[in-house]
Amino acid sequence: MTAIRLERLTKDFRSVLAVDNLDLSISDGEFVALLGPSGCGKTTTMNMIAGMETPTRGQIYFDERAMSGVAPGKRNVGFVFQNYAIFTHMTVQENLSFGLRARKHAPRREEIDREVKRIAEIVGVASILDRKAGRLSVNDMQKVALGRSMIVQPAIFLLDEPFSNLDAAFRAYMRAELKHIQHDIGQTMIYVTHDQVEAMSMADRIAVMDQGVLQQYATPMEVYERPANTFVARFVGSNPINFLPASELPAHLLRKGGGDEPLTAAIRPEYLTIVAPDCDRAALRAKVNLVEPLGAKDVIHLAHDGQELRVVSRPQRRPALGEHVGIALDPARLLLFDDHGQAVS
Ligand code: ATP
Repeated sequence: MTAIRLERLTKDFRSVLAVDNLDLSISDGEFVALLGPSGCGKTTTMNMIAGMETPTRGQIYFDERAMSGVAPGKRNVGFVFQNYAIFTHMTVQENLSFGLRARKHAPRREEIDREVKRIAEIVGVASILDRKAGRLSVNDMQKVALGRSMIVQPAIFLLDEPFSNLDAAFRAYMRAELKHIQHDIGQTMIYVTHDQVEAMSMADRIAVMDQGVLQQYATPMEVYERPANTFVARFVGSNPINFLPASELPAHLLRKGGGDEPLTAAIRPEYLTIVAPDCDRAALRAKVNLVEPLGAKDVIHLAHDGQELRVVSRPQRRPALGEHVGIALDPARLLLFDDHGQAVS
């Protein structure tokens, strides 16, 4: 197991600043997700950690050892990509054992077989060891790719959107499996994704990036409940967060302190409640535009002064389309941002 530290890591591709002064510390055995939209520098960061891309500036440390000049093959890093790197002409057994057989001092046959069996059980391919890898389903191919990386016990696991080719149900299954695997083997893992649900559901900490710049590095709940800026607030959360000008809220809800004046208020849709328009608790009034019953939850779309707001609530009395309602909000859940989009504490 290995801790990783990125210090002012920067990568320039001539006109594109792909990664900009990235500082990040990942503890031994931690599961960190690099999350951000396409092109924000996630893969470039991973490639630099793996040694496949040379930083323009900055340093990477594995434990306290600087990695500049250390070849990819010497970094003891396992890599799993979106496109499963497996040998399609080999069987599953041969694929899994490849990394051990290729070692200068390869273990004995029985030892390899034992290890293949153990890893095959973990990733769920024990019943198809004799099958040709090229004949497998996409789902099974990715399990084999995962197993192939695991068997050589890298100190660090880098996974770059490994499940994005899988179907939705299997992706959800593999997310849970990977979390179990990581817990069991305790290896440091960095997982690249643009899917906030993946990051939220698996990671110990999430590094949210935009345009090469780290926006926030915190636990999933902190990122969700206390986003550092409006980008993070918007990017994280399955139901989009509600934004509105702070001036539209009653003054007592805006915790004005010594800092900057809040310009924008935001609140997650589950922290809004629909109440009667004349209720004391109504901070805002709005008109019902759409009600989406989703089973366990309703999503209610409202129009407030030309802006759309969403409320997510347990199904109860559903307001009618066009009805005028009041909206109560939990002041403790209200987020405030200054004119640069930074959180006002
Ligand atoms: P995606 O999810 O689409 O892979 P990403 O967040 O992983 O995106 P990167 O692939 O790291 O982002 O790319 C970051 C930026 O650097 C992008 O603008 C990309 O076009 C640019 N870039 C990446 N590799 C190169 C390269 N070899 N040459 C020039 N520009 C590059």
